[in-house]
Amino acid sequence: MSRFFEDFSLICDKIKLTSSKLNKISILGEFLKELDDEDLKIAIKFLSSQVFPPWENKELQVGYSTLVKLLKDLTLTDDKTISSLLVKFGDLGEVAEYLYKNKKIEKPFFTKKLTLVDVYKILNKISDLKGEGSYTIRKNFLKQLFIDSSPIEIKYIIKIITNELRIGLSEGLIEEAISYAFNKSSGDVRNAYLLLPDLSLIAYHAKHNTMHLISIELLTPTNFMLADFMDTASEIINYFQKELICEYKYDGIRCQVHKKDDKVKLFSRRFEDISYFLPEIVNEFKKIANNFILDCEIVPFKDGKPLPFQEIQKRLHRKYLIKSIMESIPVKAIVYDIMYYNNSVIDLPLRDRKQIIKCIKFGENSEEAKYFWVKNSKEIEDLFNESISKGFEGLMIKDPDSKYTPGRRGRYWIKLKKEFNTLDVVIVAAEYGHGKRSGVLSDYTFAVKDNDDLKIIGKAYSGLTDDEIEEMNKRLKEIAIKDLGYKIIVKPEIIIEVAFDSIQKSDRHDSGFALRFPRIKRIRYDKNVDEIDTLDRVIELYNRKRSFYT
Ligand code: ATP
Repeated sequence: MSRFFEDFSLICDKIKLTSSKLNKISILGEFLKELDDEDLKIAIKFLSSQVFPPWENKELQVGYSTLVKLLKDLTLTDDKTISSLLVKFGDLGEVAEYLYKNKKIEKPFFTKKLTLVDVYKILNKISDLKGEGSYTIRKNFLKQLFIDSSPIEIKYIIKIITNELRIGLSEGLIEEAISYAFNKSSGDVRNAYLLLPDLSLIAYHAKHNTMHLISIELLTPTNFMLADFMDTASEIINYFQKELICEYKYDGIRCQVHKKDDKVKLFSRRFEDISYFLPEIVNEFKKIANNFILDCEIVPFKDGKPLPFQEIQKRLHRKYLIKSIMESIPVKAIVYDIMYYNNSVIDLPLRDRKQIIKCIKFGENSEEAKYFWVKNSKEIEDLFNESISKGFEGLMIKDPDSKYTPGRRGRYWIKLKKEFNTLDVVIVAAEYGHGKRSGVLSDYTFAVKDNDDLKIIGKAYSGLTDDEIEEMNKRLKEIAIKDLGYKIIVKPEIIIEVAFDSIQKSDRHDSGFALRFPRIKRIRYDKNVDEIDTLDRVIELYNRKRSFYT
């Protein structure tokens, strides 16, 4: 029989209460050891806030307000009390546990003792509901789940639904717990996870000693290879001391194209299935022979020229793709790498992978990325200027002998950008503006990552278009966790890229640094909070003591 959800909840509490990372790993590791296959996968899904893998495009569609309403009704609590408890605890799960402990809840005589499988099945059913009447059915499922829950269970059910476990368990610690439980090296677990970004499956393979069988698979996204920075062409030449492959740095959306027989799927950097938004690309790849996985940039492209990056955002993140939008924002897939061609090719050197790309017969909405061989700084500088004048973002310079290493930011791909003084940061709070912007959340406080913490580094007011500000307001209100009147505190989910003039030491923010003249360059829909820049990177930039310019 599946383990009780209460046991899982107690383990979560135990993990939260210990601050030692080693203890967290051993508590979780010992628990994982005891679970059967199904429970193991479910527990890891819940702990890693990935109830459903993003590529399945499954969502719970349960808003904060629905949860609050259910809690209010079940515990007979008014709005004011809930709001003040939210300010006190800062977490709806904790509020729910408090209310369950302190209020009388009308329950039928018999309630079911929930298991891990029960909770997972209900969440699955909820996410499968579609169309008319689904809201009411969803609410009824949730209500039953709430009625069957004890105080500690309701706390974790809400935390799982809102994707906020907050027990001090990072993804890295879950990986460590898997290696502890099944006696695997953390390096092996990490490598497997980079290939197959689903920790529940990694745990399963670790348990059954089959991790070595994991490889990249058609129709399941893998991690993208990442690039490092260098500031100048001569730094790059000095570092490599050999002939290099050089491509334009396109300003679009990173995309992984998977083709298996008559199926084509396009995945974003966050592994979401974005095929729906790009039908012309999907149809074109369907016609191409062979099975493959490609790495490419989807670029808005019209009359032979790239359109501003913002244009492609109008294509994505919308419920329905309208023909007029497709026509006004034509797109192209510019292919720069290949990971699978009838079998995995990631271990071949880039120079050979480039030859394999040549076997593919592209159509009108896709093409191979142009590349050049360069051997000195002058050639790189000339290409850099050419790239900028053509409307691209700079250059990508790549080691021709490198393998494709999913998820690794090694020094095999180097980016040379016009604007190297930017940081990817997460919004943690938003304030209402003044004058024309009064009543509008237009002033954003943002943070960088410092291990498992976030540290504030600045505030930005400018850079977004009116449409983007409107959309931002909608999203910010949905993820608000505290309302302070003039300002709201939000869940750290929205990533922005900020440009700035320089970095200064400052005690205004808890990072100890502040950005001079920060402005928002773009909203990074393709990144999540784990991928933002770190305080270490800020310190590195600060130590260079250079006056950045854009
Ligand atoms: P950035 O914020 O500089 O775009 P990133 O953090 O998104 O970088 P990196 O792996 O560091 O990702 O840098 C590579 C980025 O450049 C990817 O986002 C990718 O979409 C984009 N890109 C554009 N042209 C190329 C190219 N020719 N080869 C590889 N990546 C490219």
